[in-house]
Amino acid sequence: AAGLAGTDDKIQAAINLETKRQEEQIELIASENIVSKAVMEAQGTLLTNKYAEGYPGRRYYGGCEFVDIVEQLAIDRAKALFGAGFVNVQPHSGAQANGAVFQALLQPGDTILGMSLDAGGHLTHGARPAQSGKWFNAIQYGVLQDSCSIDFDQVEMLAREHKPKMIIAGGSAIPREIDFARFRAIADEVGAYLMVDMAHIAGLIATNYHQNPLPHAHVVTTTTHKTLRGPRGGMVLTNHEDIAKKINSAVFPGLQGGPLMHVIAAKAVALGEALEPEFTQYIEQVISNAKTLAKTLQEHGCDIVTNGTDTHLMLVDLRPKGLKGNKAEESLERAGITCNKNGIPFDTEKPMVTSGIRLGTPAGTSRGFGQSEFTQIGHWIGEVLDGLAANPDDNSQVESTVLKQVQALCARFPLYR
Ligand code: PLP
Repeated sequence: AAGLAGTDDKIQAAINLETKRQEEQIELIASENIVSKAVMEAQGTLLTNKYAEGYPGRRYYGGCEFVDIVEQLAIDRAKALFGAGFVNVQPHSGAQANGAVFQALLQPGDTILGMSLDAGGHLTHGARPAQSGKWFNAIQYGVLQDSCSIDFDQVEMLAREHKPKMIIAGGSAIPREIDFARFRAIADEVGAYLMVDMAHIAGLIATNYHQNPLPHAHVVTTTTHKTLRGPRGGMVLTNHEDIAKKINSAVFPGLQGGPLMHVIAAKAVALGEALEPEFTQYIEQVISNAKTLAKTLQEHGCDIVTNGTDTHLMLVDLRPKGLKGNKAEESLERAGITCNKNGIPFDTEKPMVTSGIRLGTPAGTSRGFGQSEFTQIGHWIGEVLDGLAANPDDNSQVESTVLKQVQALCARFPLYR
């Protein structure tokens, strides 16, 4: 049978455009990455044809002996990487992984305590429009006004007042290391489960560049596609056998049907890569690139929330420049630099406007950018933001000058050599 190019020109053409976009722009979205050829190859296999409801050795379909090998390898590699006793690699996404934990350990109406979206938390941690915010009594904690670090006094106070069944630590825009032990002490005091969502920092944890939550949390969730550099997907990890059993039942049959075996194969490949010494070097570079980018932006008069970063990401507070996140995102995009507008703590702008942008180094580092490239990128961002502040209605001159230089840099660092 013919391949995609011969049978569906419209989809092939869109993929070609997306390929060109990824090649020719600088990706600074902190939650994205560039997977290896091996990961992509595994995901593009005929494993997508296979139904495998159940778990390795206990399936509801025949013909599962070879996909069992794949899933068991993914499980064993994740266990080794994170020091976990039990891992479920089937969640289709990070949101599904979190949903499975809630289904396993909570009842509708129970009280949960998570970080608010505007402080850096995730939708699935109890935000109003999400299922977690609709089906549970969701209480939210935030950060301190002056330092923007997690307000542990508030976490403690809210925990004592509301007696949540679960406390959730982790988020999508937290630039500093999280103190999991402190969360666990509060959870123990009020008899709550502690769930850590390590989606953003899984790659840093895998390489010991961030405290590991497994010794502290009752249960840990993650995505596989951020700093971990795997395919889009989720996982749940725990060291408690009783919780592991409930999680397995919650993922299947509770929440999902057949697992995506092609994605699980790609997860296994990525987890294998993360166990290699090169991955530690990669994460080390991700972090030093982030520090370099933050420092360069500060030299350009940008305000970095918490005054820097310990991780792969930073939040740029655009208020000192008199700019809004949406306008900055659009202008940077026209200059070949992709990022996302992001609320900053205590932001008074609407979520579609915001006073900040979020920047991350995982994708750029994967294509080979080092500190000198990220210094250059910081200068370009500074030029675009200053140009926009000077000419809010038309920054096209600066944008096109930067775009040419961005494309020249990208041409030297192809995504797949
Ligand atoms: N948890 C955190 C902390 C995240 O940042 C994200 C994604 O942005 C998710 C969960 C959800 O992951 P997914 O988009 O795969 O559902």
